Amino acid sequence: MSSSMRFAVFNPATGEQIGSALDGGADEARAAIGAAYAAFPAWAASGAYERAAKLYRAYELMLSKRDELARLMTAEQGKPLKMAHAEVKYAADFLLWFAEEAKRVYGETIPSARVDQRFLVRREPVGVVCAITPWNYPVSMITRKVAPALAAGCTIVLKPAETTPLCALAVFNILEEAGVPRGVANLVTAANPAPVGEVFCTDPRVRKISFTGSTEVGRKLYQWAAAQFKRVSLELGGHAPFIVFDDADPVHAAKGAAAVKFLNTGQACISPNRIFVQRSIAGPFLETLQKRVMAQRVGNGMDETSTVGPLFSQRALDKVDLQVQDAIARGAKLLAGGKRLVDGDLARGFFYAPTLLSEVTADMRIYREETFGPVAPVIVFDTEQEVLAMANDTGYGLASYVYTQNLSRAMRMFEGLQFGIVGINDINPTSAAAPFGGIKDSGLGREGARQGLEEYLETKLGGFSI
Ligand code: ADP
Repeated sequence: MSSSMRFAVFNPATGEQIGSALDGGADEARAAIGAAYAAFPAWAASGAYERAAKLYRAYELMLSKRDELARLMTAEQGKPLKMAHAEVKYAADFLLWFAEEAKRVYGETIPSARVDQRFLVRREPVGVVCAITPWNYPVSMITRKVAPALAAGCTIVLKPAETTPLCALAVFNILEEAGVPRGVANLVTAANPAPVGEVFCTDPRVRKISFTGSTEVGRKLYQWAAAQFKRVSLELGGHAPFIVFDDADPVHAAKGAAAVKFLNTGQACISPNRIFVQRSIAGPFLETLQKRVMAQRVGNGMDETSTVGPLFSQRALDKVDLQVQDAIARGAKLLAGGKRLVDGDLARGFFYAPTLLSEVTADMRIYREETFGPVAPVIVFDTEQEVLAMANDTGYGLASYVYTQNLSRAMRMFEGLQFGIVGINDINPTSAAAPFGGIKDSGLGREGARQGLEEYLETKLGGFSI
């Protein structure tokens, strides 16, 4: 294809075109891999302090451009400006954290049973990394992969989501301005992801794949990558339980549930998808939650008063509505929302009313499927044993949340929940310093923290006879 081909980028709140990006394909992907492959030896040999300095510079630059990046993100992805600001900070945190961690890639010496032998363990960068990122967190999902890759001494080729290439471009411009050499960090934008994904997973020069997106696509990439035993990190879907026990304050818990449920219009893999409340406090919990849901202000994220932005696409809107209508048809009670919003300017975007459903049961789609939308489905439970079984009854295993004031119960839940992340009275158990990731259908590997750097490192053993 000719590199002069471009594809359009739209604002999901208004439907307006806000820009365009180069439409890359298999050839561009191979060329970028070639550049990363050529740049790898020098970057790997450049020394941790030099790499750390460049990441630190990128961190400073990103913070200095926080406003501009946040505005671009709101225009391209739709989230309220305040949330976009928070995301830029979170994204910059990964640059800072891995700038620091770059200097802590320690090796080991191991005593040998033979007195004339020495064992030395060295950590080395895995090589060329190819990464694919989603649209819901269009800046932080990039730095969460690029920062540890560069810190470890890997070079990288990244394909962002086809709907948010402009945020990706802005991040890569920052890396360039920070002095990251040509070929070390490469961006391939594309309207059609599949051919690029296939080259990433099948080109023998690539030693690692890092992907954030749907379980379905993750499975396909994993299968492709298996043929060459490429290292793989997969950050996939979730179906987070949010459990409120009757020893917790139901009002406080309901406020927490509303705050985390409507973040990013519910379009997060750690968004609560099933809210379980113990019977004796269901009344006050639902009452507060209903007030909080109805108090959300839906609108264009550029408007400072909006707390919930648009959904991302018509497809997302249809999926959310299908789950809501299915639940109502099967007996769920609608306590708020339940429909697309089309008043005035809202008709131009993909807006869905913040929705609260009670009396949700296991036969409903919403009980089983990831929603990725502003819908809070509530299920009443009786015992700890029962709720633990219901919470774990899913193929997913990313985030989970528990509200309790009972320390023993908190520990039992922390240990019993089959999820990579457990928030105990905590709706934000994420940080650049903490390992983020899931089990089962939610994927493989961890991002952030020292574990996030491990994903980009190989272990080499030296045996020396003296
Ligand atoms: P979502 O449904 O959340 O958009 P996807 O898994 O479809 O999740 O998208 C996440 C990322 O995966 C995006 O960058 C998208 O372009 C990419 N992607 C989607 N399909 C493929 C594919 N067949 N091969 C490679 N990447 C893909």
